[in-house]
Amino acid sequence: MRTLIDGATVIPMNDDAPVIFDGAVLVDEGRIADVGVSASVHARSAGSAIDRVIDARGKVVLPGFVSVHNHLGYSVFRGRAEDIGHTAVQSLYVPMSTILAREERGALAALSTAELLRGGVTTVLQMEEDADVTAPFVEQSGIRALLGVMAHDIDVDALNRGKTVFDERVRAQQLEQAITFAEHINGRADGRLKAVMAINTLSTSSPDLMRELRDTADRLDIPVSLHLGIGEQDEVRKVHGGAGAFQLACDNGFLDERAVAVHCYMVDDDDIALMARSGAALAHCPLMNQFRGCIAPAEAMRAAGIDIGLGIDNYFSDHFEVLRACIAVARIRANDPAVAQSADILARATIGSAKVLGLDAEIGSLEPGKKADLQIVDARRYGLTPLNDPVRTLVYHAHAKDIDLVMVDGRVVVEDGRVTGIDEDDLLRRAEAAGNAAWARFADQHGGYAVPH
Ligand SMILES: [Zn+2]
Repeated sequence: MRTLIDGATVIPMNDDAPVIFDGAVLVDEGRIADVGVSASVHARSAGSAIDRVIDARGKVVLPGFVSVHNHLGYSVFRGRAEDIGHTAVQSLYVPMSTILAREERGALAALSTAELLRGGVTTVLQMEEDADVTAPFVEQSGIRALLGVMAHDIDVDALNRGKTVFDERVRAQQLEQAITFAEHINGRADGRLKAVMAINTLSTSSPDLMRELRDTADRLDIPVSLHLGIGEQDEVRKVHGGAGAFQLACDNGFLDERAVAVHCYMVDDDDIALMARSGAALAHCPLMNQFRGCIAPAEAMRAAGIDIGLGIDNYFSDHFEVLRACIAVARIRANDPAVAQSADILARATIGSAKVLGLDAEIGSLEPGKKADLQIVDARRYGLTPLNDPVRTLVYHAHAKDIDLVMVDGRVVVEDGRVTGIDEDDLLRRAEAAGNAAWARFADQHGGYAVPH
């Protein structure tokens, strides 16, 4: 199957190639075969059959976004968690983890997956309690994904009473779930799916759990990920002794060159130096973090040599908003309106995030030989006219709803703004029903929509 995207403005996100006006992208069997000015691409492909031509005049082609941190089923917390700050973890997330039925999480995760594709996200790192139940839809949808069960080994009932108790039986069950799933999913769909070993936080994970997961990551040659630098340092010292959160992660295989450390919005200079030495990357989630009132010192971490990718985290579905949040919070933090330039942040959301996941040789930019993971934005829209500088206009003004077509591995997964191969109305109905049912049980058990703390 050869597809020619023709007449487009092309943003290749390749250091050597600037924006191409009146450009074309030739896709052949899932990979990019050619990128350039239309006339040149036509000349180079003259005589070879083209199966489909996509008329992209007035449109912009760029690489798909790579979101390095998501919890797909957490769309359940929309409208519940946004205004209650850090207590959401204890008062909503932890208790909901024992209430949400697996099929409900599946319905909510299907919604989030469709939203990601609709928003131009072609690769996602998803970690969640029941990542295994989300996997079938993720596989069917066509998105590229790293998937992992977010393991812990605490007694959740004790945690709800404010006590941390590590439980061997929980550990055995969680390891069985996480490792079986990783072995099942890793490399599926012609390598489009990959496993990741994940823990939620250090304060809910014992060193024994971490080391078992690390050994599996070694064996399968896959990344590890965890939430880190989220204000858990005192709790970590109380639970684990004196080493401190970053050192503890380092000592147990969760802070090294294959690690994706999420958030890091409460870090000091020693933490940044340790993380830089370790080779771990940051999953920066500025859209989510800004509503928690916390912002990672991402530009300082970048200056220290730490690779940075961008993640949505949860609730949200429009990745362009993540880019804008990334710029806004960096400028507020630096009190400088010129830091975090739009071209750099678009690179961070594409090729930079691909590098964080170890996938930059395959995706993240539009170059011959790479996988055809791309999005086409219709620029003939309110808010995007006049287009002027395409990079700047898209980063500051585009929305998910402006995306016309999305491709992963050369397969069209969004066309005319709709996710292909699924009944979107049914998807929305199922997710709404799942959320309503889960919250009704939550309210029954806890007397309302939050557990008091
Ligand atoms: Zn998270």
